[in-house]
Amino acid sequence: MKKHNFNAGPSILPREVIDQTAKAILDFNGIGLSIMEISHRSKDFQAVMDETVALFKELLEIPEGYSVLFLGGGASLQFCMVPYNLLEKKAAYLNTGVWATKALKEAKLFGKAVEVASSKEANFTYIPKDYVIPADADYFHITTNNTIYGTEIHEDIDSPVTLVADMSSDIFSRPVDVSKYGLIYGGAQKNLAPAGVTFVVVKDEILGKMSRTIPTMLDYRTHIKDGSMFNTPPVVPIYAALQTLKWLKSLGGLKAMQKINIEKAGILYDEIDRSRLFKGTVAVEDRSLMNICFIMNDEYKDLESEFAKFASERGMIGIKGHRLVGGFRASTYNALPKESVIALVNCMKDFEKSH
Ligand SMILES: *Cc1c(COP(=O)(O)O)cnc(C)c1O
Repeated sequence: MKKHNFNAGPSILPREVIDQTAKAILDFNGIGLSIMEISHRSKDFQAVMDETVALFKELLEIPEGYSVLFLGGGASLQFCMVPYNLLEKKAAYLNTGVWATKALKEAKLFGKAVEVASSKEANFTYIPKDYVIPADADYFHITTNNTIYGTEIHEDIDSPVTLVADMSSDIFSRPVDVSKYGLIYGGAQKNLAPAGVTFVVVKDEILGKMSRTIPTMLDYRTHIKDGSMFNTPPVVPIYAALQTLKWLKSLGGLKAMQKINIEKAGILYDEIDRSRLFKGTVAVEDRSLMNICFIMNDEYKDLESEFAKFASERGMIGIKGHRLVGGFRASTYNALPKESVIALVNCMKDFEKSH
């Protein structure tokens, strides 16, 4: 039976990406060795790194003056690297969920960090809108897509201070005006590559202003200077990321990807809104295009585990909602084909017919 992979992360990758990466693991560039058993400083791997950075910049249309880094440690290490490198007096955070809360907690270890707004009182079912970004903050931190709750900031906001964004789960899902950001980071395992690599896009001029001493490995300038090769980078995930970027380019880039994502998410949201059994969980205007959360209407609550079983028998993988939200979550990342969304919608319709 065909599996439809709605996992939230690590999550679906384009089949070509997996095939190409598998090939390089067996025989990289026809050199008779695996990509896993050669130096990261070899000519062949350096070419991979250079091309990955170049394509990353091309697809996101990153302006001059920014560096692209590939590091270890996950997005979670960035929760600490960001304040380590940028928080001198005060930082401001928008609290839109668990990941944002974790980022804020780390910042507090380094100095004053304020929460400008939060939707915690409503279990993070919306993105706060009426807030003021303090003009005296060193930076303002947002989480553009809240993977657990299924909310998303769809626009590149204007910030009077350096804007920092965790884009772990919506990077490359739409064009981004990078010039509005000082720093963008994310774990690759949602929309780009297998787990193990973290991307960082940083405007060079915002660095080097701290009075504190930054440990070498945690200083962005170390990795800029050494082209993400200060130490051994995660070579296989970087290789896979390059294959994903090539795949994105072949589809027509981020405008084309955004169009597909709007269409895919629309198909599922339409069914959620139409269905007698299901309902959405978040404010309509903040609905994520990447993680679509839904629950059973109150009168059908006891059908939840029955639907879970029904869907899994039809090949739907990973649609159980996060424990903090309950119900269901279908992640519709770039690599998820439209056919999978249609299969899920049909599954929901068929279940409704018999109930
Ligand atoms: C998954 C996720 C993280 C955590 O990423 P790690 O790479 O596991 O540290 C952080 N932020 C967001 C928005 C996520 O979706």
